[in-house]
Amino acid sequence: MIAPVLPTYARAPVAFERGEGPYLFSTDGRKFLDFTAGIAVNALGHAHPHLVAALTDQAGKLWHTSNLFEVPGQRRLAERLVAATFADTVFFCNSGAEALECSIKMARKYHAARGEPERYRLITFEGAFHGRTLATIAAGGQKKYLEGFGPLVDGFDQVAFGDLAAVKKMIGPQTAGVLIEPIQGEGGVRAVPRETMRALRSLCDEHGLLLVLDEVQSGMARTGKLFAHEWSGITPDIMAIAKALGGGFPVGACLATERAATGMTAGVHGSTFGGNPLAMAVANAVLDIVFEPAFVARVEQIGNYLKQQLAMVVDKNRDAIEDVRGQGLLLGLKCKVANTELVTALRERGMLVVGAGDNVVRLVPPLTITEDHVREAIGILNDACASLTHRPTKDAAK
Ligand SMILES: *Cc1c(COP(=O)(O)O)cnc(C)c1O
Repeated sequence: MIAPVLPTYARAPVAFERGEGPYLFSTDGRKFLDFTAGIAVNALGHAHPHLVAALTDQAGKLWHTSNLFEVPGQRRLAERLVAATFADTVFFCNSGAEALECSIKMARKYHAARGEPERYRLITFEGAFHGRTLATIAAGGQKKYLEGFGPLVDGFDQVAFGDLAAVKKMIGPQTAGVLIEPIQGEGGVRAVPRETMRALRSLCDEHGLLLVLDEVQSGMARTGKLFAHEWSGITPDIMAIAKALGGGFPVGACLATERAATGMTAGVHGSTFGGNPLAMAVANAVLDIVFEPAFVARVEQIGNYLKQQLAMVVDKNRDAIEDVRGQGLLLGLKCKVANTELVTALRERGMLVVGAGDNVVRLVPPLTITEDHVREAIGILNDACASLTHRPTKDAAK
């Protein structure tokens, strides 16, 4: 008999009733160090007092009015995002996939509005993940997410990860732009080299294309810059963000330059829930903290410390782990054992992490962790790795 909750997830057998900072407390009374953070969502940890206050305060006033009317929280959040980034304008939605949908539609509309509606194709990259809607699974191009869902949404041309020559070859009269994650998250914490990001920017400029970035996972200070593209010194034309923007409240956004937003006029796009007062109150509260002067630099610093400590774990456990990759607090351990085995061994020892493609274990803790939390994590990691590689033989166990 099918479960009442549609069984589309392979869930770990644990549920939580409460969280505090980087810790989660399960319904059966166990405490976990949470280096999953809701998959890079709970950037300020669980139950952050400033976010709880913002949400409860707004909850007593107004939840939802629709976009038939002005929403002051949207204006405030948009102005703050515009002031802090390349963008001139922002559309609010409820998830990463929706932020990508808006980005894809905007890139197509840009060319259509300029009299080139045949330019609707985006070049994408192997290993990409852009969400689970029909268009975003087509953009991601991963067979396991596409199979059985009918004809592919047309308009995406995939090339090998970081393959500039292939991008050049792919550009044609129907190309609208390039869509890329500066660091692939689900794909295995794979960073696009900075020179490649710069070369993509130049190629787009040269051919009149739009550079569309998916910073749903890498954005909002996760990599030790407010947005990961800042590491390469370039700016996009359009950028999708979500995950950490609401610190756990569902909210996404599509940021764009004025030029890229040509064509996005009244009536061409919308969302019932997008930018509702609750989401805006919480996202503004997230920015209060992420925009504090020392916040982003602190993420870079603690990220460096964690990465350096992880490198020592790799050295000690060469049979279990191959290397450490990533930037800031978007880090991955490339495993020699099955990544799922390490995820389970860590959970059994009170630490939560998430798998990724390429047999990687992803570490995406709250951005607010301290050196003490890093040391706690390293202790658990060493113990878990040892348990996987120094298994007593059957004889020894007798
Ligand atoms: C999570 C993610 C998405 C999809 O976000 P949803 O909120 O699940 O729709 C898209 N792109 C990237 C890079 C992501 O990490």
